[in-house]
Amino acid sequence: MNENPQSFQRLAIIGLGLIGASICLAAREHGAAESVAGYDASADVRKRAVALGLGEITETAAEAVAGADLVILAVPVGAVGLVAEAIATHLAAGATVSDTGSVKESILRDVAPHLPKGVHLVPSHPVAGTEFSGPDAGFAALFEKRWCILTPAEGTDSTAVGRVAAFWRCLGSKTEVMDAAHHDRVLAITSHLPHLIAYNIVRTAEDLETVTESEVFKYSAGGFRDFTRIAASDPVMWRDVFLNNKDAVLEMLGRFTEDLSELQRAIRWGDAETLESLFRRTRDIRRGIIEAGQDEPEHLKKP
Ligand code: NAP
Repeated sequence: MNENPQSFQRLAIIGLGLIGASICLAAREHGAAESVAGYDASADVRKRAVALGLGEITETAAEAVAGADLVILAVPVGAVGLVAEAIATHLAAGATVSDTGSVKESILRDVAPHLPKGVHLVPSHPVAGTEFSGPDAGFAALFEKRWCILTPAEGTDSTAVGRVAAFWRCLGSKTEVMDAAHHDRVLAITSHLPHLIAYNIVRTAEDLETVTESEVFKYSAGGFRDFTRIAASDPVMWRDVFLNNKDAVLEMLGRFTEDLSELQRAIRWGDAETLESLFRRTRDIRRGIIEAGQDEPEHLKKP
């Protein structure tokens, strides 16, 4: 169903990986734009995008954005500035530029200076994803029931913000508008730190001399397996997240290590009460996430 009364005429997606390909598929399925154009820096990705029928795939970013009233940059956070610079002079007057980056203050910093007057910048972050990358990983239902956070700078045209929000709702998302700095702190604890911990725990297991690699694989269902799923996420994307959300991640990491030391002490001193009361509180958080519709109980998940 198309709930967007002002759907866009031409949507251009730059970057046709997991997120870009999913937007193409979802926008076509829900009629969020009359036509969809796409460009990716990789010739192999462009070829796959044609085969997958993602839309009109162009040979340059300039061709994709020509005449587009909505342009979404779905490239790694570290690449948005270069892309914005490359497309700036080809953007249609009054067009809206958005993105999907997992960090938001750096988007305003890196993209805004390149955009011509009259072009609106409405950064967005669909809080939806998988550990897979590339166009073949894309699917239309990725954004359904997931939050999409918009972080426009103060003074951004409210009609443009409203249209971008309506676009994401049309794709099945719930939307919220937030200050970019606040977004980066919230995501540092809900997404960035969990990924860092996952990358690190897998590295620690890899480095252990007394546990063999085959044992790590064999007994992974004890918890390690869930970390490996997160630690399989795209290396370039995550490199850019940590380079561009340095302050918030370091702040959360500081708090995390303090709390970890407290747990270390509780284990050393046999403090059963501290351990049990924490584990009860964290179980309630898990239940809250399920009640909020942001995950399913394990036994209901498809294999
Ligand atoms: P992805 O699957 O790796 O796709 C990114 C695509 O962009 C790749 O095909 C890449 O090509 C291409 N690209 C890189 N630089 C480019 C440039 N200058 N011009 C045109 N194309 C370029 O990554 P993704 O998972 O879709 O993530 C895209 C963005 O969404 C990132 O900013 C990420 O932070 C954000 N995001 C990701 C998730 C998630 O779970 N994956 C969730 C929410 C938001 P090459 O491979 O050849 O470099």
